[in-house]
Amino acid sequence: MTAKIIDGKAFAADVRARVATHVSRLQAEHGLTPGLAVVLVGEDPASQVYVRNKGKQTKESGMLSVEHRLDPDTDEATLLALVEQLNNDPTIHGILVQLPLPDHLDSDLVINAIDPAKDVDGFHISNVGLLGTGQKSMVPCTPLGCLMMLRDHHGSLSGMNAVVLGRSNIVGKPMAQLLLGDSCTVTIAHSRTKDLPEVLRRADILVAAVGRPEMVVGDWIRPGATVIDVGINRIERDGKTKLVGDVDFASASQVAGAITPVPGGVGPMTIACLLANTLTACCRANGLPEPE
Ligand code: NDP
Repeated sequence: MTAKIIDGKAFAADVRARVATHVSRLQAEHGLTPGLAVVLVGEDPASQVYVRNKGKQTKESGMLSVEHRLDPDTDEATLLALVEQLNNDPTIHGILVQLPLPDHLDSDLVINAIDPAKDVDGFHISNVGLLGTGQKSMVPCTPLGCLMMLRDHHGSLSGMNAVVLGRSNIVGKPMAQLLLGDSCTVTIAHSRTKDLPEVLRRADILVAAVGRPEMVVGDWIRPGATVIDVGINRIERDGKTKLVGDVDFASASQVAGAITPVPGGVGPMTIACLLANTLTACCRANGLPEPE
């Protein structure tokens, strides 16, 4: 069997186009422009690429994009003061502090200083609690993008066995909550899980967010399963730097029913969902109906 490729790039372009249409309507009908502020502390090369792409796509969708680049040795008080300033800025509807922060800064403290209504990454404890209790929240962008692709592929996910490999706060845990919210039977696997291949083979839906290049091989996948590969790993192969996922695409695509590629799967959906979250935050802040 050869798996259907779930084209995250095309899906994300579609989401961005819908966001842009909604943004121009907001401007025409209400004189409103959604604004996203991204804060980058330090010079982590991967973070710089992400921030640049976020800024570019935010502008392309017609929104206001503001970037704050701070020195790597910025102290906590300065960063917290900037977050407070953005919380109080009526032109800004979404605030994203790019992670990871340098070691001397307390990420939890900084993230929890963001106004939860502007927390478009969905990492504030209020949003985590709201998501966990099935209430309206800001949903973390990467798992939201995965859920959108799964819903699009399957329609209803009700009753499906979902296995999430990885239990991080930014991907694994919120992914599991979202799948539970869609009535999947959810298992969360991690580094202490016993008989990992056996656990993974039970999955109708497998979401791999582990950060280990090509760890999940075809033999661990149930025939016909849907595989969502969140991993972004840079490896050296044949003298070149290559981007690979947490799933061994060559063997997995022979067994799975559908699979997301890396690159071109989850990655583009993450930024598209960030734009969608910013638009949602702007609508909520102004008491307007939320986009679908
Ligand atoms: P973390 O390092 O925070 O978490 C990794 C998880 O995988 C942990 O729960 C860990 O278990 C588990 N794990 C590690 N090794 C093993 C193993 N050998 N067997 C079983 N479980 C293991 O990573 P993130 O969640 O932040 O990211 C995961 C991947 O997703 C990375 O490749 C990252 O680059 C990518 N990513 C992609 C995004 C996108 O936009 N596409 C966005 C965010 C992340 P334990 O908790 O027990 O240590």
